[in-house]
Amino acid sequence: MPLLAEAVAGFRRTMSPHRTPTPNHTRTPMQVTRQQIVTRGFANRCCNCGADTLFKPGTPFGVHEACASCGMKFDRGEGFYLGPLVINYGVTVFGFVLPVIGFYVYRNLSAGMTIALAVGGAILLPVLLYRLSWSWWLTGYFYFLPTKLTANRDGLGEDLED
Ligand SMILES: [Zn+2]
Repeated sequence: MPLLAEAVAGFRRTMSPHRTPTPNHTRTPMQVTRQQIVTRGFANRCCNCGADTLFKPGTPFGVHEACASCGMKFDRGEGFYLGPLVINYGVTVFGFVLPVIGFYVYRNLSAGMTIALAVGGAILLPVLLYRLSWSWWLTGYFYFLPTKLTANRDGLGEDLED
């Protein structure tokens, strides 16, 4: 069959109102729902299995590369650590330092107190928010890409490596 005729026949099959629709029931429903992703993530737990394996015990800043329970990778590749960094920076600057400067400008906070609060907050808050920023980042990542969870990949035929 000539190429053009083959293309026209394929187009007609695709556009035909009598064509067989792609069955949706062949896809496996997600094992981990978005609600579970949020509740597990905000509890600093693995979004995939819910185990308390995100952080290394006894270390304030130690993040496991993968879940010890289910094996899912937390570190999704090069540059993934920038997500928590951006969240941490954003919360610190826009949630604390700028409001403190606003108090200086509009509410007569002294210059010395403003500097002390801004510098102190800029040093202390990232330390306090470190674990939360990792959890929030992973929660957001898997909330919008739930099929990246290994539990949700079963039956979807997706590449298990990314
Ligand atoms: Zn897990």
